[in-house]
Amino acid sequence: MNLKDKIRVIEDFPKAGISFKDITTLLQDGEVYKKAIDLCIEEVKDKEFDIIVGPEARGFLIGAPMSYATKKGFIPVRKPGKLPYETVKYEYELEYGTDALEIHKDAIKPGQKVLIVDDLLATGGTTLSTINLVKQLGGEIASVLFLIELSFLNGRDTLKDYDVKSVVKY
Ligand code: IMP
Repeated sequence: MNLKDKIRVIEDFPKAGISFKDITTLLQDGEVYKKAIDLCIEEVKDKEFDIIVGPEARGFLIGAPMSYATKKGFIPVRKPGKLPYETVKYEYELEYGTDALEIHKDAIKPGQKVLIVDDLLATGGTTLSTINLVKQLGGEIASVLFLIELSFLNGRDTLKDYDVKSVVKY
């Protein structure tokens, strides 16, 4: 079973020139979704980690089932104003303006080993922001895992200080 065959590619979404990798076609096939999560777990089987952190929204789709299967906790990273308790925030630059991510301030204990997961690595900006939040709370980055890596965007350069794993590469 080839996971790539189940990922739908949509040209010029969300804007001209972007070749969007749509995982909804993979998720809707239960066997394939399970296989994808199993392969994600296989990638990090030699890594020691205490907890999984994933950014909204597609990071939840990878992180939560991995959390269930490995019995490690899951911590959501969200856009501002979504988390109900006190948060720490990290603002980052976009092409026009800024965006931000938040995490609950008591989500990670200092020294905890964190596995960061997301559906896709493009430039690495989202992941670097997530790493920054984890570090603000004193967490250590054990590894960073993606279901999909767009190798031609060189996100690994942005994440060069970290152990980066991915299952499907373009
Ligand atoms: P980065 O911050 O440039 O690495 O972009 C990665 C983030 O954008 C991830 O959270 C992805 O969910 C999202 N993303 C970027 N391109 C795609 C795509 O082609 N398919 C699905 N998600 C994407």
